[in-house]
Parts: sequence; C-alpha cells; structure tokens
Amino acid sequence: MYDVWKNVLAEIEQQISAANFSTWFQGTSLLSAENGNISIGVKNSFFVKQLNNRYSDIIKAALEHNNVQVTNITFEVSSSSTKITSHPREVRHVDISPIKSHITKTKSNLDPYRSTGLNQKYTLDNFIVGSNNDLAVSAARNIIASPGDRYNPFFLYGGPGLGKTHLVQAIGNEILRLHPDFKIFYTPISHFYSDFIDAIQNGKGKEFNLKFRKLDCLIVDDFQFIVNKEKSQEEFFNIFNDLYQLNKQIIVTSDRLPSQIKTVDERLASRLTWAGAFDLQLPKFEDKCAILRAKAELSGVDIEQEAIEYIAENVNTNIRDLEGEFSTILLMSEVRGITPLELIKNGSVSINKSSKLRPVSAKQIVDKVAKYYNLSSKDIRSRSRVSNIKNARQVAMFLLSKELNLSTTKIATEVGLQNHTTVMHGLRKIDSDLKLDYALRDQIEEIKESIYG
Ligand code: ADP
Ligand code: MG
Repeated sequence: MYDVWKNVLAEIEQQISAANFSTWFQGTSLLSAENGNISIGVKNSFFVKQLNNRYSDIIKAALEHNNVQVTNITFEVSSSSTKITSHPREVRHVDISPIKSHITKTKSNLDPYRSTGLNQKYTLDNFIVGSNNDLAVSAARNIIASPGDRYNPFFLYGGPGLGKTHLVQAIGNEILRLHPDFKIFYTPISHFYSDFIDAIQNGKGKEFNLKFRKLDCLIVDDFQFIVNKEKSQEEFFNIFNDLYQLNKQIIVTSDRLPSQIKTVDERLASRLTWAGAFDLQLPKFEDKCAILRAKAELSGVDIEQEAIEYIAENVNTNIRDLEGEFSTILLMSEVRGITPLELIKNGSVSINKSSKLRPVSAKQIVDKVAKYYNLSSKDIRSRSRVSNIKNARQVAMFLLSKELNLSTTKIATEVGLQNHTTVMHGLRKIDSDLKLDYALRDQIEEIKESIYG
C-alpha cells in the first residue's frame, strides 16, 4: 500500500518523454517525507544534480497533487534505489522495509489513501462534447463549480469504452486544480475491495474507514464489479452515507444502473441514483468525426477529412475502438509512407468494427429478432398488439433503422405496419428505454451478434 510515489511517477510519466522518464526516474524511490522535507533516493551523485536542476518543480507539483506537503526536496544517493525499478506499475513490489518505521511515524504526509489515484492525462479540455454526452458533461461542469451540491451523488453509466473513466477522472482533476487542498480519491471498486480486505487482515479496518471519511470527493469507477461480499459492501454503504451527510461529493460510474446489478443491496442501489443517473451513449457520426478531428489536432497529425469520415462511419462500437482504428491507420500510413486516405483507397484498411461491411438484409434482421424472442417472422408482421410481439417488433424496427438506415416508411413495410408514425413512436420508445434498461441493451447486442456472428 505504498502508493504515493507510484502515483507521483505515473503523473510525471505523463508529462515528460518516455526516454527522459526512464533515464531520470528509473530507480528513484521516496525515502522519507517529514514535515514537508522530502527525501528522494537516486542511483548516484550525477542524478542528484540533474534531478535537482531539471525536475524538482514537477516532482514538487506531483507530490502536492498527491496531497504530500512539500517545503524542501533533497536527493540522496541510496543503495536501495539501484535495486528497484521505478516504473509505476512495478513499484507495488518494491521492498520498502528500510523505511517502513519511518512511514508509520509520518503518516499524515504519506497516507496512501491521500494519494489521489488521478491521471492527469484525462482533462475536460480533451473530452469532446457531443450529443452522446452533453448532459453528463454539463452535470460534470456543475460539480466542478460546486462539489457536493446539486449532483450528489453523481451516477454516470454507459457501455464500455464510452468515456466514463475519462469524464470522472477529468472532474477529479479539475476539482483539484480549483481546490488544491481538497482530498480527492479515485478508485475502481475492485481496488476498494482488495484494499478493504488487506486492511481487515492487517487489523486496520478502522483506519481504512477513517481515511475514506476524511475525503472531500470520492470517485468510484466500475461499480458493476461490486460483489456480494456483505462486509465490504456494508463498508462502502457506510462510507457513502457518511460522506453524503457531510455534503462531500461522491461520483460513481457503472456499465449499468444499480438496480440492474444483481449483487447490490437495494438501499444502496436506490441511494446511488438519488440525484439522477446520467448516461454516455454511443457517439453519432458527427460526434465520432469531432472526436477524431480533435485527436488529430492534439497529436499534431495530418489526416484527410475523408479518411476521418471513413473511420467514423465504419467503427460503430465505442470510442476506445475508434481511437484504436485511428492509431492503427496513422501508424500504417507512417510505415508505408502514404497518407491515411491513400491507404484506405488502396484497400489496405479493413475495419472490422462495422455492420456496414457485412451486408445484411431487412428480412434477415426481422427473422433473427423473431427467433431471438421465440416468435415467427409472421408474428412480427401480424400487427398483433400482444405485448411480447409488440416489443419484438419495436426491436426489429430499431435494428432496421440503426443497421440499415431505412426510412420509417420502408421500416413500416418490413414489419407489416401501414403507418410510419407507429414506427417513429416505436423507435423513440426503444431509444428512451435503452437509457434505463440494461437488459434491453444486452438483448440488442445479442441479436446483433446472431445477425453478424
Ligand atoms: P470507459 O471508462 O467508459 O470504458 P474510457 O473513459 O476509458 O471509457 O474511454 C475510452 C477511451 O476513449 C479513452 O482513451 C478516452 O480518452 C476516450 N474517450 C472517450 N470519450 C471521449 C470523448 N468524448 N472525447 C475524447 N476522448 C474520449
Ligand atoms: Mg473505465
């Protein structure tokens, strides 16, 4: 649980080149931090001077972001530093026994729970606002301006790769920028558990609890992984209630609504959405283009508008995949020495994240939907108003619209309706149900898999 230096290094790694990071920070360690006097262990005296001249400012800033008070930094040659690797992901394994006793004494400065867990690469500036996320972003801005107030708790949900972690981390980073004294902690729920279990096993349950209660803002990611371990869920519930009562900001993300997570206590589930539930949706074509354009600008690369549109049109899964395809194409274009559009035009790119590349007929869609719901295609086209048939018909309409982009008149013909306004009504219904009904999302994904799989 010696997280502070790990977080500091992770932060620094984001700010300097990989080469500089590994040259200067490989093998560093935090030796002590008492009353603002920070001592950092380095490999040899050459490093003392270089780190002092070049990096003491960013080290200071990173320590302060992690709530370590800094008045003075000294660098010391430390034999233990040569043995360890300072790569952030590996620091957990560092043997810190020589300074353990010291840590206990200086708990107030080196309290691991006071490290923020935030990654500075996630900002609001590089989070592109579009029709898929504008409500959530406006709530986020409100929270940043006034933490613990109107949107508390802030519950953010949506499928994988749609920007949940990015947005909540950005909120944390912005709050910290405006209130450097705030105690903010970001943790995936799975780490909350493992840390809680560690604490209990080491007889430190009470300290664990107290440390969380001191926070001004708690950010819990991927809440869907909450498990049915009564004790830890109860602990989380208690911490939640205490922070809530003190008007401390609580932020929770999940891939679905709490009521749709089987293992979650009903009272906790309802409390999490007291202030509403905000969702991140799949980006539309224009949103995808805007995200790609912004990524190109941020990384200073040239890419033709037509190439951007090609990627946007063909990646229909999520933003993570969109970024992945974008990077692959840029890399290939660099390696081959041709522009992204030339690459696409000469057929070297085939994006596998698209329904459009795998043509499907309207009839196939209706058949698969019918089969999925144990009905016949005839039932779907029957105009019956029995609820399960009506639901299946609406799902079919939805898929005909999303997958084939058919007009509402054409969709009406395909599902045996006379009136295209019934189709419009059905499409709107599914669109709005999808916001709250995670089971429906799963069903639609499964049907799509049966269509394309
Ligand atoms: P989730 O936590 O929902 O699975 P992430 O927050 O990890 O998704 O987002 C996946 C990737 O997409 C990240 O690299 C993130 O920076 C990027 N991303 C998501 N939404 C946006 C957005 N609106 N603008 C820019 N980048 C985004
Ligand atoms: Mg995430």
